[in-house]
Amino acid sequence: MQTYARQDVAFVRGEGVWLFDEKGDKYLDAIAGIAVNGLGHGHPKLAAALCEQAGKLIHTSNIYRILEQERLAEQLCTLSGLERAFLCNSGAEANEAAIKIARLHGHNRGIENPAIVVMEKSFHGRTMATLSATGNRKVQAGFEPLVTGFVRVPFGEAEAVAKLAEHHNNIVAVLVEPFQGEGGINVPAADYLAKLRAICDANEWLLMLDEIQTGIGRTGKWFAFQHTDVMPDVMTLAKGLGSGVPVGACLARGVAATTFVPGKHGSTFGGGPLACTAGLTTLKTMADERLLENAAEVGAFIRSDLTARLKDVAGVREIRGQGLMIGVELDRPCGDLVKQALAQKLLINVTSDTVVRLLPPLIMTRQQAAVLTEQLAGLIRAFLA
Ligand SMILES: *Cc1c(COP(=O)(O)O)cnc(C)c1O
Repeated sequence: MQTYARQDVAFVRGEGVWLFDEKGDKYLDAIAGIAVNGLGHGHPKLAAALCEQAGKLIHTSNIYRILEQERLAEQLCTLSGLERAFLCNSGAEANEAAIKIARLHGHNRGIENPAIVVMEKSFHGRTMATLSATGNRKVQAGFEPLVTGFVRVPFGEAEAVAKLAEHHNNIVAVLVEPFQGEGGINVPAADYLAKLRAICDANEWLLMLDEIQTGIGRTGKWFAFQHTDVMPDVMTLAKGLGSGVPVGACLARGVAATTFVPGKHGSTFGGGPLACTAGLTTLKTMADERLLENAAEVGAFIRSDLTARLKDVAGVREIRGQGLMIGVELDRPCGDLVKQALAQKLLINVTSDTVVRLLPPLIMTRQQAAVLTEQLAGLIRAFLA
């Protein structure tokens, strides 16, 4: 079905940060399947682990123990400080689990009509509940009636969340991206999460972080909340977790970790041996190859180099981001840049109309990043000229 306005190119092979089309032409990948291919393309360790696992076992069922799932859940909890995990197959599903936890937790507290605070310009997925939580009318239009039980405030304004506490007695949770991805790489004040944490604590709400795009090393830490001293109650992951194999996770601690009991939630495919092997291999390879450090270093280089190259260009509003999650905001819609970059064999993305989004593989070297910044700066100059 026509769910995407696709670029007219098909890739048949990849190697690190490079993709090759049917004709054998080579492209620099600065979008990584939208923050998915952290290990780049064709990583030999991932390919070998998946082949080996496929030969042993691909699927059993969650009605049995799954050792790979237990190991992946344990490692994600160790890395994050959270206590339990539910494994699923996508970001939207991970957020569905979080939303269900919040509602069930509310009902357990005697709140019959529980509501979740969500943000303007947020993106949480395309299922009915997650598109209802999403702060973008384009994602929702035509799918009404929306799922109720969401209260929306501007992103980055903790005071607006605090005000809600005065007028609503049915709020049970706040769902927020630490840095907004689809909404245009929006970076809140450094103390935003801490303020939200304090409001949640004062009102017995759950703080639920959607780290589907920011998690798994993208911002230079395992999880974006680790740039602060805030601990969430719930965190959702997907995109980079399986390096391209569909894996999602909803992690929780405290009361949120024990809200689900048998029969309340499930998934046929979620947490299967093959998908969890992809997750385990991703985590191990990221640690072995020091990809968190690399994302922080190379990301800082890209931001400073682009800033230097574009500093005298009128029409460039802001260059922002964290690690290898970078936005270049222009003063006009710039969707055409995607095609112009593609013609020059560079893969970028435009989100939120005026923002060029870069989400390169976490393995990108500084030399490769310099190729990217030179090419992109040239494209932006020409576009704005
Ligand atoms: C991509 C994304 C989702 C949705 O993930 P899917 O796997 O496409 O369902 C949810 N939240 C955020 C922040 C995302 O970036």
